[in-house]
Amino acid sequence: MASDSGKVVTRFAPSPTGFLHIGNARTGLFSWLYARHCGGETLLRIEDTDKVRSTQEAIDVIFDGLAWLGLEFDGQTYFQSHFEGRHREVAEEMLANGSAYRCYLTPEELAARREKAREERRPFRIESEWRDRGEADWPAGEPYVMRLKAPREGETVIEDLVQGRVAVKNEELDDFVLLRSDGTPTYMLAVVVDDHDMGVTHVIRGDDHLNNAFRQLAIVRAMGWPDPVYAHVPLIHGADGAKLSKRHGALGVHDYREMGILPEALFNYLLRLGWGHGDREEFTREEAIALFDIADVGKGPSRFDLKKLQSLNSHYIREAADARLASLVAPLIGEGVDLALLTEAMPVLKPRARDLHELAAGAAFLFKSRPLAMDEKAAALLDDAGKALVSQISARLHGESGWTIEALEASVKAMAEELGLGLGKLAQPMRAALTGTTTSPGIFDVLVLLGREESLARLDAQAG
Ligand code: GLU
Repeated sequence: MASDSGKVVTRFAPSPTGFLHIGNARTGLFSWLYARHCGGETLLRIEDTDKVRSTQEAIDVIFDGLAWLGLEFDGQTYFQSHFEGRHREVAEEMLANGSAYRCYLTPEELAARREKAREERRPFRIESEWRDRGEADWPAGEPYVMRLKAPREGETVIEDLVQGRVAVKNEELDDFVLLRSDGTPTYMLAVVVDDHDMGVTHVIRGDDHLNNAFRQLAIVRAMGWPDPVYAHVPLIHGADGAKLSKRHGALGVHDYREMGILPEALFNYLLRLGWGHGDREEFTREEAIALFDIADVGKGPSRFDLKKLQSLNSHYIREAADARLASLVAPLIGEGVDLALLTEAMPVLKPRARDLHELAAGAAFLFKSRPLAMDEKAAALLDDAGKALVSQISARLHGESGWTIEALEASVKAMAEELGLGLGKLAQPMRAALTGTTTSPGIFDVLVLLGREESLARLDAQAG
């Protein structure tokens, strides 16, 4: 189904839980992509009816995560809590058209029936005698809930774009609550009313909501509204095949951001979790929009593979503009970072990094002040023999007029030959003296990036 204008309208409806779960973000991405693919619209609805959890902070986490991933939504953001009055109005309309009823069963009566079902070892199902009672029978002033008068005959069929045809016998549907006794709407009612009022044509969400879809459709049909098209996307599982949970590690989009993952890497990774286009691993946003179809999303759960995400991240780090990387990495290094130098160093730093923290660690040597703190391995390399070598190298480089990679390489190689040593033997103590570590970009890159004066000063400081 499409809206009157034929336009596809999707939505993303996260509940503020304090973080944006990557599985949810992927559902949001799919909703966003499908709408963009169809030339339609995609809307954002914050399901903030749980007043305790729905703090501004929890809502901002969602906004930040989506903005970081580059998922901008159309029109205004909807807040479910603003529409409670409208949800009640629809429940009253359902009461009036005979598809809902006031149920005056007390919590004690319900508990007794539940207990009886348990004793008789049969599944509990609401069988409320209030289902067929009318206004004349309503006890004045007593609390009640509003329940759906669920259809009992036939079956409800959903042609789900991802799951295929799924059918449920209507006798399995229960008379679930639409309005609680305090008059607040349930999630089940609110979602349906909001989707309808927002003009949503395609409900794309996690398959943990598939069972809800049958119940929600009963409300849609009771109101005579057009059925939305459903697409229930499988959840993400961990590498061990179990549903992704805290014990698998980071779950929130912001965790990945803090781990130094680039948004385009997470975007691509989530895109490829459950959807593919041949063997292709990387897609620009435009390509993803052009190629994505929700019907091509697989039915089986996908497994989250951190190594794969990291390797994609390495790829996107290599692709990223140097100035952008420098500005992302600078705050991770600390005070006194020269952005121009950091940018200049990126071409030699970025091929080695899997995330922004590794990039920062690799760049840190550029901004260290003298005397350099040595890590343990570097200190070990600078024993008496190492220091003596550094001293010889330094003496030679003091006489070097051209400070280019080629000139420095030629000079140090010649010296290695003269000493009958491999280049590595010279490079190791040099690296230790120049960077305070034993891992760094190529030693000649290091010399050029540090510049003549700083390089010689660092070498001299360690010369024996
Ligand atoms: N707020 C629900 C959730 O975060 C989604 C509801 C829906 O998509 O229909 O799981």
